[in-house]
Amino acid sequence: MSNNATEDIVINRAESTKIDAVNFDNLVFGEIFTDHMLICDYKQGVWEKPIIQPYAPFLIDPSAKVFHYGQAIFEGMKAYKDDNEDVWLFRPEENYNRFNKSAKRLAMPEVPESVFMDGMKKLLEIEKEWVKKGIGNSLYIRPFMIATGPGVIAAPAKFYRFMIILSPAKAYYSGEVKVIIAEHFSRAANGGIGAAKAAGNYSAQFYPTKLANEMGFQQIIWTDDATHSKLEEAGTMNVFFRINDTLYTAPTSERILDGVTRKSLIDLAKRENINVEVRPVLVEEVIAAAENGTLQEVFGAGTAAVVNPIVGFSYKEKYYELPKLDNPIALDLKKKLTAIQHKVAKDTFGWTV
Ligand code: PMP
Repeated sequence: MSNNATEDIVINRAESTKIDAVNFDNLVFGEIFTDHMLICDYKQGVWEKPIIQPYAPFLIDPSAKVFHYGQAIFEGMKAYKDDNEDVWLFRPEENYNRFNKSAKRLAMPEVPESVFMDGMKKLLEIEKEWVKKGIGNSLYIRPFMIATGPGVIAAPAKFYRFMIILSPAKAYYSGEVKVIIAEHFSRAANGGIGAAKAAGNYSAQFYPTKLANEMGFQQIIWTDDATHSKLEEAGTMNVFFRINDTLYTAPTSERILDGVTRKSLIDLAKRENINVEVRPVLVEEVIAAAENGTLQEVFGAGTAAVVNPIVGFSYKEKYYELPKLDNPIALDLKKKLTAIQHKVAKDTFGWTV
């Protein structure tokens, strides 16, 4: 990895702030962005100095490889503010490492830690007013990288742009989530890019998800592409199944994103003496559990919603409703994890930075 980034970051401050026009009580996820963004360009093997500048559109060559070959990756993480006005990140090194894993898989240059981490911290320092206190409030952080290098030859670009943009977020409530288990379409395959946060993984889901939406389901639970017999993950969440009192979740693989929330929930559940088994979860066994009444909960886990309980699912045109529990494990784990993220509970794991 060539690393020519220096410690110092160029800062061009915005002349005014948009913050006063924002209704923080009524935010739609990912639609409003803060006053500044970070840009760092990579040119022929060298990372230039990162620049923090006012949030604005920028020019890019129409032949840039990102438009033609989808050389684009991203991350999703959040900053939280505690009652002392300090701003916290949750396991940011996990996102940093995953970002560079994605970069490698897409034949893009790895981003130096000084650019990703120091750039992010500096940007957050400038935008700290945008991080609101209180459980559920956060500033969503979107680091991403695109191939800006020109030319329509199908080969990796020589020029890239790494950026960070920030968007204030409220507790994410998506209403009652009903899902459909994939029987035909696939999100990922062995040897593919499923384990990377590559833009193409998401656009490839839009069409099957649109069909699912038309049928009244909000999301798809993806199954393995070869046999469609193993339950893997949802659109932007890993999934957990509770049968009796044990939580099951699929092991990460070439097809599944190694979610930070997933691995944190596994550790948290273990600490709470909840049985967790990481092993392939078969469609067949979940259907059998739904039929014999032992399937208690299904929930998604990801940065945006933390935990997203699923109320029912469809498989082979049959709908299975989940029981309404008084004390679901999903909500208990969500409360405990958000309390750590917001520094309300002691972080015995050392996850907050
Ligand atoms: N799976 C996919 C495909 C995702 O996009 C995400 C969101 N990053 C997740 C799982 C959850 O990962 P995390 O907990 O790190 O947000």
